[in-house]
Amino acid sequence: MNLATEVRPGANRYAVGQNILQDLPQYLEPFGKVAVVTGTISYQIFSDYYKKELEYPVFRYNGSASREDAQRIADEIGEADVILAIGGGRVLDTGKMVAEVMNIDAIMVPTLISNCAPFTPIVAVYHPDRTFREMGYMKKAPYLTLVDYDFLLATPKDYFVAGIGDTVAKWYEIKGITEQLPADEKTAYIRLGIASAKVILDILLEDSIQGIKDLENKQITPAFGRVADAIVGLAGETGGFAAAYGRSAGAHAVHDGLSYLESTHDQLHGNKVAYGILVQLAHTNEIDEIKKLQEFYQATGLPTKLSQLNVTATDADSLKPCTDHAACAEETFNMIDADITAEQVYQAIQVVESL
Ligand SMILES: [Zn+2]
Repeated sequence: MNLATEVRPGANRYAVGQNILQDLPQYLEPFGKVAVVTGTISYQIFSDYYKKELEYPVFRYNGSASREDAQRIADEIGEADVILAIGGGRVLDTGKMVAEVMNIDAIMVPTLISNCAPFTPIVAVYHPDRTFREMGYMKKAPYLTLVDYDFLLATPKDYFVAGIGDTVAKWYEIKGITEQLPADEKTAYIRLGIASAKVILDILLEDSIQGIKDLENKQITPAFGRVADAIVGLAGETGGFAAAYGRSAGAHAVHDGLSYLESTHDQLHGNKVAYGILVQLAHTNEIDEIKKLQEFYQATGLPTKLSQLNVTATDADSLKPCTDHAACAEETFNMIDADITAEQVYQAIQVVESL
């Protein structure tokens, strides 16, 4: 049995719309004992919007999204029928792990639009010291994901834009991974994964500018809804359907490499991934595609150059920790090029920087 290679289509129920959080008591009705898992800031944001007091015990995570913290929270809860997780990606991932430990359901209430953590049964697991540990595959998907557009208009713009960058990568990574695959190795589900990534890309290229405007003006148009659903929901389908063929490739390998440069530590995940897409495309020599994306990045505020990620020294020595890691055997650049070298990643970065 290998959960990482199984089809994981996403949440059991995905409820979306304006003001749907006011129906929260109805959604919780089937459950007896509810335990809230949240963070200090997340819970404040939620309370400011929800207004009424929740009558359930509230447990705060410690910021790590670690198995150890999930176990601590599960021990403190003792007994419950459902976890109500309210927050950003790390809070929701913690909520999923607590539910897994307790073998109960979890309901996800995202407080921002920036990733597919509210939707996917996959968790980014960290060590207690907050360094990355592994991707964790939960046996159960969230019972319910509640996406309230009105509430989510409070998403900080930079998180929303970074979410767009991370989600644009779905297409370029699955395309890079599956392009060389013989037709008969593209299973029905891999094909569905590829198709989902194309829908995601089309929505993001067409609707992101309007979606960002909506966020700034605090109004909701259909474009905002499409971008929000693409980031929170659809993004989870590419890997959910195509498994490893639809997950990380060159863009995320460059992201992981960039995390070895201290100056990028404050940069958002999706911004680094967005830059990584350009590097991956430079390696596969798709210059026209890079130029198309550069225009889109400039219009949305995604980075086209390393200097926008706070990296000013771009010589081979300074970038070595990044390029060495991006090309290493444990990384995913080799999903598109089995023979990738650090030198080639460096050359690809030089191409992106020169355009
Ligand atoms: Zn990502």
